[in-house]
Amino acid sequence: MRAVVFEEVGELMDVQEIERPAPAPDEVVVETEACGICRSDWHAWQGDWDWVGVAPTPGLVFGHEPVGTVKSVGEDVDTLEVGDRICVPFNLSDGTCRYCKQGRANICERVVPLGFVPFQQGAFAEEFPVRNADHNAVKLPEGVDPVDVAGLGCRFATAFHGLVHRVDVTPGDWVAVHGCGGVGLSAVHIADALGANVIAVDLSTDKLEKAEELGADATVDVREVDDVPLAVKEHTPNRRGVEVSVDALGVAETCRNSVKSLCKGGQNLQIGLTTSEEEGEVSLPVDTIVMDEREFIGSFGMPPHEYEEIFSMMDQGKIDPGKIVSKTVSLDEVPEVVASMDDYETIGIPVCDDF
Ligand SMILES: [Zn+2]
Ligand SMILES: [Zn+2]
Repeated sequence: MRAVVFEEVGELMDVQEIERPAPAPDEVVVETEACGICRSDWHAWQGDWDWVGVAPTPGLVFGHEPVGTVKSVGEDVDTLEVGDRICVPFNLSDGTCRYCKQGRANICERVVPLGFVPFQQGAFAEEFPVRNADHNAVKLPEGVDPVDVAGLGCRFATAFHGLVHRVDVTPGDWVAVHGCGGVGLSAVHIADALGANVIAVDLSTDKLEKAEELGADATVDVREVDDVPLAVKEHTPNRRGVEVSVDALGVAETCRNSVKSLCKGGQNLQIGLTTSEEEGEVSLPVDTIVMDEREFIGSFGMPPHEYEEIFSMMDQGKIDPGKIVSKTVSLDEVPEVVASMDDYETIGIPVCDDF
């Protein structure tokens, strides 16, 4: 079958013939209908994140935001049948550890990221396997568009889990979103749906316009202001700052700006992972965090059971991940799209829907 194959850090990937996966007893093999193309693919492709244990090896197949149809079922799988349409979280879990049992499968003790390690092939391929399928595969409601669901891939799901389950967003709260890439635009859209007043922060006119389309009430163009946190605070009552600030990018500057945009008692939602510049370390105004009782909260992906909440809000027309999808491409175009992410000009989420 055809798949996009990684050979070397920073070297343009190409489409190769690889062996079709066969399901292990706990697995299903899924025929890919659509798969989002993500900045995480770009990070891994160019060798970021070895400090968190991600180091791509030759022969790796990326692709962690898939939707597809079950094609074959391992002998121990009870809840899935050939023909079921499913999606999966990018961090596959075992379903049995203490975190899984607490409903926090996204931080499973034995988490296996889809499409970042050689023993879990990703979905930039005609077919891909899903381990612990009874636990990880989420059946889709009837009739949903595969591109919309691929669009909720990791970025929309990550923003949803963060804003809905990790921080307290109350209607009327002010929420700032620093960085309006795929995850940032998703956060803008979701915070708006939750009834918050949203301030989008970026350095691209196009991205800020897209943020306004998705529900941002105010924007801050970082090219036009000297002090970003102050410019964010200008939009809030008495310039007190925002109740929730999202760092959706993960560079030192957005992380610090995000924390400094908060009101007293505010919560910083850290969604962006850092780059090779920071290697995971950012200096922060700790004394202010202490004296203002601010919180710094990490959020990573989303456990499978929360998809139901997204599907129900989609069904009621309250959110639409499809709005963040910027374009659809074929498998042959995936390597180019991944490589082009170094200029940060991609708007929204590109999705591969032609295998
Ligand atoms: Zn677990
Ligand atoms: Zn992703």
